[in-house]
Amino acid sequence: MEYVKLRNGVEMPLEGFGVFQIPDSAQCDKVVSEALTAGYRLIDTAAVYMNEEAVGSAIKKSGIPREELFITTKLWVQDSGYENAKKAFQLSMDKLGLDYLDLYLIHQPNSDYYGSWRALEELYEAGKIRAGVCNFYPERLADLCLNAKIVPMVNQVECHPFFQQVEAIKTMKEFGVQIEAWGPFAEGNFNIFSNEILAGIAVKYGKTTAQIILRWNVQRGVVVIPKSVHKERIEENLNIWDFELSDADMNTIAGMDVGHSQIIDHFNAETAKFLNEYKIHD
Ligand code: NAP
Repeated sequence: MEYVKLRNGVEMPLEGFGVFQIPDSAQCDKVVSEALTAGYRLIDTAAVYMNEEAVGSAIKKSGIPREELFITTKLWVQDSGYENAKKAFQLSMDKLGLDYLDLYLIHQPNSDYYGSWRALEELYEAGKIRAGVCNFYPERLADLCLNAKIVPMVNQVECHPFFQQVEAIKTMKEFGVQIEAWGPFAEGNFNIFSNEILAGIAVKYGKTTAQIILRWNVQRGVVVIPKSVHKERIEENLNIWDFELSDADMNTIAGMDVGHSQIIDHFNAETAKFLNEYKIHD
């Protein structure tokens, strides 16, 4: 495992384990336990994934010292705003059974995220969290950075060979914000695992297509958080630290970028409506 140093000096693992779309508690508990046993130390959950308790249970059972772990959860849109964010943070902490978070992220750039950010700044200053955002594209990220007391440490955005976030990364670099890739496998869409270009590169290195995809991103400094509910894939996805892609292969993958998301369009009014209407509690 390699680490990247955030602007505040905190070391963040370059690879972690994501738990989106694992709502079944027993399954989530099991796969997080398997991931921790395999060697993952960063676990990425969210209030909206409805599995913070299961993540907390696996963490507790692991016996791994808290300071060796890097635990992330996220504030959902419904809980935006200063007061709501503080309440939602405490609820997430209770569910996870933790007393601090390595990363607390505003999940979507919607609703009263400035109010939320003020709450996160206070939590940050109280030593309860390191703070960040998700899905903040350049104009919103720049605006938040210019108006924040504490600039986000991390911006978690969709990032894989078909959507490489070239422009977004430029803005993040300008403000010293670390990029973290959600959907590093494009959520398994677009036949990514049988893509001929990626499969061709994989054969050369004696690796799987999945390992090439992850290696390409970490090699350009992007934190990845692949999800899998299969033990052998959980292990396979972590086995990316014993080889290096050549410049030529990095450039070949760079040529696969289509420059926009084909999964979720954050620039569309329907997306804003959907995210605002999606409720996780009464
Ligand atoms: P992903 O990691 O890109 O892809 C997961 C898919 O790939 C699953 O169908 C999984 O299948 C499959 N897979 C995993 N490893 C594989 C392998 N070695 N070979 C073949 N197939 C493999 O998708 P994601 O879960 O959406 O993204 C990762 C994490 O990012 C999430 O879990 C979540 O923590 C975070 N995320 C954040 C946001 C946000 O808005 N901030 C949005 C989405 C996701 P199996 O599970 O069946 O193995």
